[in-house]
Amino acid sequence: MGLSYENPFSEPGVWLRGNLHTHTVNSDGRLTPEEHAERYREAGYGFLAVTDHGEYVDTRGLGGGGLTMLQGEELSAGRTGAGTLYHVVALGIGEALPFPEADPAVSPQAVIDHVNGAGGIAVLAHPYWSGLTHGEAATLKGLAALEVYNHVCELLNDRGDAAAHWDHALTAGARVNTVAVDDAHSRERPHVPDDSFGGWVVARCRDRSEASILDALRRGLYYSSSGPSIHGVEVRGDEVTVRCSPVAKIAFVSVPCLGDCIKEARDDLTEASYEPRPAERYIRVQVTDSRGGRAWTNPMYVE
Ligand SMILES: [Zn+2]
Ligand SMILES: [Zn+2]
Repeated sequence: MGLSYENPFSEPGVWLRGNLHTHTVNSDGRLTPEEHAERYREAGYGFLAVTDHGEYVDTRGLGGGGLTMLQGEELSAGRTGAGTLYHVVALGIGEALPFPEADPAVSPQAVIDHVNGAGGIAVLAHPYWSGLTHGEAATLKGLAALEVYNHVCELLNDRGDAAAHWDHALTAGARVNTVAVDDAHSRERPHVPDDSFGGWVVARCRDRSEASILDALRRGLYYSSSGPSIHGVEVRGDEVTVRCSPVAKIAFVSVPCLGDCIKEARDDLTEASYEPRPAERYIRVQVTDSRGGRAWTNPMYVE
């Protein structure tokens, strides 16, 4: 038995923090692409994707000062059993997606297939917020990732966390990574705080170029967070050890033996180890701090 894991902590390169889901005045956001680029650059982000609904916006001229812009678009398509649409975020595409926005006749699978054929990365956006069943999310093929955490969905509807959709897809045999994102709109709504800087990924990239960042995302060389930092993941034989910023809970999530979870009353944990039990198919690590912030590794597959 061995563990297959693209380990970002054993790769050379630079660590870059990024947000992969942002809306501007070109769809239903309040800020311009320029204003978003400036805000994320000032916050120390290394990359940012503008992903307007049904609109491809070329933002390559907005990088610089440590920030690299990724090209993207979000498209709503198909129809779920609940009557909602699937939302697919396309990253690393060089032109607009050739589909109308919000057309139930366009299948989400056709969108994912097109993105992959164009050399891009397809991400299933906010499956819990969209009302997808676990089966609907798990049936899609060719997703690089699904959003385990979507910040604006958490702020607006308390439906930001899609870990159960992700585990169901992994249980069904999909090899799919995860991302945490802002889905920033920056609209001023009563009782809703700023929706920037609440969900992000930290990627190990060869350099700051768009190609290197996309390569790291494609290979899964990153972790996702809504608060804590992961400082290291070590796979020694069959044992996984994780080190992180102080948290109250470190969980090794798996199936069918359901992993393990170490808990403290306060943020006193910074390290834990786990050895998969026989028959477990994958392990992913999820850490949670006392304020509810989480960080997620991508899955390690038992082979
Ligand atoms: Zn969406
Ligand atoms: Zn969105």
